[in-house]
Amino acid sequence: MKTTEASRKPIKSLDDALARCQELGMRVSRQRRYILELLWEKKEHLSAREIYDLLNQQGKEIGHTSVYQNLDALSAGEIIECVERSDGRLYGNISDSHSHVNCLDTNQIIDLRIELPPELLQKIEVETGVKITDYRIDFFGYKNSAPAKGTEQ
Ligand SMILES: [Zn+2]
Repeated sequence: MKTTEASRKPIKSLDDALARCQELGMRVSRQRRYILELLWEKKEHLSAREIYDLLNQQGKEIGHTSVYQNLDALSAGEIIECVERSDGRLYGNISDSHSHVNCLDTNQIIDLRIELPPELLQKIEVETGVKITDYRIDFFGYKNSAPAKGTEQ
């Protein structure tokens, strides 16, 4: 049914990302390559502002508008990840389904690949009548509160 989805292999490297641009008929401009290189180098979730600052710090000249336009095009093509947060959008290098651990104290988002036990998925399917084909889970917690904290004697 969803042939485009099925025939598409996940992007596992910067080269895959560049190849996907070409498949989609997107021109790989210098600026577009800068953004992809940065996201694959940092492997973090960054705002457009942070991407702009980091690239310019590296001496790579790119304008605000170009950063925004390229991020829009790359996320629309599902070449990069776009996370909607209350304080704005963040962009990451992993475009296929994955889960996130959200640190509430540091605001950091850690990428995580987990597989739920088949029994749990089955339970969800029975409960909802929906055949689960994909999932993304958001975990929330505090990095600074290690479980051992305060238990030393
Ligand atoms: Zn992510």
